[in-house]
Amino acid sequence: MADTRGPFIIAIDGPAGSGKSSVSKEIARRRGYGYLDTGAAYRALAWLVLERGGDTDDAAAVRAAADGFAPVIGLDPDERQVSVEGTDVTAAIRDPRVSAAVSGVARIPEIRTYLNAMFHDIVASSGRTAVTIEGRDITTVVAPDAPVRILLTASPEVRAARRSKELVGEDAASVAAALHKRDASDAAVVDFFEAAPGVEVVDSSDLDFEQTIAAVLSVVDRRSGETDVD
Ligand code: C5P
Repeated sequence: MADTRGPFIIAIDGPAGSGKSSVSKEIARRRGYGYLDTGAAYRALAWLVLERGGDTDDAAAVRAAADGFAPVIGLDPDERQVSVEGTDVTAAIRDPRVSAAVSGVARIPEIRTYLNAMFHDIVASSGRTAVTIEGRDITTVVAPDAPVRILLTASPEVRAARRSKELVGEDAASVAAALHKRDASDAAVVDFFEAAPGVEVVDSSDLDFEQTIAAVLSVVDRRSGETDVD
């Protein structure tokens, strides 16, 4: 994605509950950009492993599920359907069962390489002029040369509270425990708590949604001004 002829990339990383999905999506919506949720691909693969009766701690089961794995992930921020082998998994991949299993998939290096190549293909063939890509390693591995790279953070308490609000009916303490456990597993694979050189940090702990959007858009506009958007 260093190729300047491809879409203009806005790379956004952050831990669970940092607000990166809702923020990235809203920015794409307001600006008419494409939006790629890379976590959806990791989740879809974890879902497939579970669907086949496997365990994501079993690397062989994950590799078998990844063979030919080609989820359909749209780039339209308002049409966020994800499907695997013809099955709509849009809701299923958000299930706490999948969230608890997904780190097992994410820790396998070949799986990351496979999915990263897929992300590059999706973006390159999108026909979009700009795409917001969000995940854990977008600013460092997937699109280290992106003109706009942002790490969206928030305190652990704020992140747990946000996630708990989203998961209606789930006990707040177990939501917080599951979120911190997943972050710890994921952070052992890629560092998304510390910004890499050149990556701008937006801390949303004390910002509401609109303020966070404004903070991120000001980075996007400043960086876009420094780069040739077309
Ligand atoms: O962003 P989201 O919470 O939906 O991501 C789900 C999981 O996918 C993360 O917990 C992590 O294990 C994995 N992931 C990753 N690298 C990315 C995006 C997601 O390892 N770029």
